[in-house]
Amino acid sequence: MTTQPRSVVIIGAGHGGAGLAAQLRQSGFAGSVTMIGSEPHLPYHRPPLSKKFDGAGVEQLLRPAEFYADMAIELRTGVSATAIDRERTTVHLDDGNEIGYDILVLATGSKPRSLPGSTVDNDSVLTLRTLDDARRLGASLSHGNNLAIVGGGYVGMEVAAVARSRGVGVTVIEREDRILARVASAELSALLTDYHRARGTEVLSRRSVVGVRTAGTIVTGIRLTDGSVIDCGTVLVGIGAVPDQSLAVDAGLVCDDGVITDGDGRTSDPSIFAIGDVARRPLDGHDELRRLESIPAATEQAARAAAVILGLEPHQHEVPWFWSDQFDLKLKIAGLSTPEARVITRRVPGKDAVSFFHLAPDDSVVAVETISAPADFMAGKKLINRRTPVNPTALADPAVPLKTIVAESGVPA
Ligand code: NAP
Repeated sequence: MTTQPRSVVIIGAGHGGAGLAAQLRQSGFAGSVTMIGSEPHLPYHRPPLSKKFDGAGVEQLLRPAEFYADMAIELRTGVSATAIDRERTTVHLDDGNEIGYDILVLATGSKPRSLPGSTVDNDSVLTLRTLDDARRLGASLSHGNNLAIVGGGYVGMEVAAVARSRGVGVTVIEREDRILARVASAELSALLTDYHRARGTEVLSRRSVVGVRTAGTIVTGIRLTDGSVIDCGTVLVGIGAVPDQSLAVDAGLVCDDGVITDGDGRTSDPSIFAIGDVARRPLDGHDELRRLESIPAATEQAARAAAVILGLEPHQHEVPWFWSDQFDLKLKIAGLSTPEARVITRRVPGKDAVSFFHLAPDDSVVAVETISAPADFMAGKKLINRRTPVNPTALADPAVPLKTIVAESGVPA
């Protein structure tokens, strides 16, 4: 058994950082645990931000306030780390303090990309990442504004669904030829586009924004590349996120669109780990290193890094997955598709549920996208883990139970 560290310092108090702190204690770690969070809030759930921005339920704590004291986790909120001194194994904070570490964990997450060329500094041109961002969005929409959303990603489409359900006029502007172009199949994009449009959202693709129109300090619209203007009082920019890696870069850790780690979260400095959105790491079944921006990925990496830090046996890697709610649709997606994958649709007649299975050229399942089909999601995860060929005709036929397909692939059903 390896010697356990005396002190673990975690920079970042999101799902990854807070999960790791809790996991260390649940695994019996008796040394000191310090977590630094730049926001003034206790660690909170992020999914409500894009779903409940207009209501009281937006703030949902990951754990009750007393949890941190009960677990002897020193939580410093409203404080940012400004530098890592790897020689002295210390972290500098913007309140003037310095903390020593045996093990340092970077769980700094990612930051929303801002609109290129936009110089507008306005409370009605917003990004959405934090609780305070969500409250600003809710406040801006409470004036009865129309909403223009730049970027048809998960932030944009989740907010569009909620805003539309509240009667807000919503236009989504996506520069690709379809929404969710990077993260979903063309089949899923088309289904979601139709669903949003049928509920009154205008979805414009192959268009980008050239500027925001204002009257004094009031936002009145956005100008698009095709010369048109969308009238709106609120602009939400959801055009992706970039890893918050500046501390790691400044400290000389190996970074390349994310902090490079091994499969256990260890960076190029063995005393420093990186987990969550900021980490780029190897993934089972994929040749290149990947950076995953999702809560299940952050939670899984936190559990794994905690075990490795304590010299314990980590769990097996989990198939990457995430979920999204849009109107009454429950999306669950597992695995990572590849450009050469072909999509098999499995639809139960008369039901809203549908699944899109992504097959590699050898007919093994590499990803599955499900809508309101939890059993297909579970079966899909098993098939992805197995990596053996399946029969595409059977997969497309709802008369053939997925249990049979899973059993035939050699996985216990
Ligand atoms: P995203 O999923 O990366 O989508 C951003 C979209 O905006 C992309 O399709 C992007 O196209 C497009 N875009 C980029 N620049 C544009 C421009 N100038 N004009 C119009 N469209 C443009 O990012 P996001 O929706 O902002 O979400 C941020 C992060 O939060 C992501 O990691 C996301 O997964 C996460 N999130 C997850 C969930 C969930 O899991 N349910 C919910 C909300 C947020 P290109 O691909 O060409 O750049």
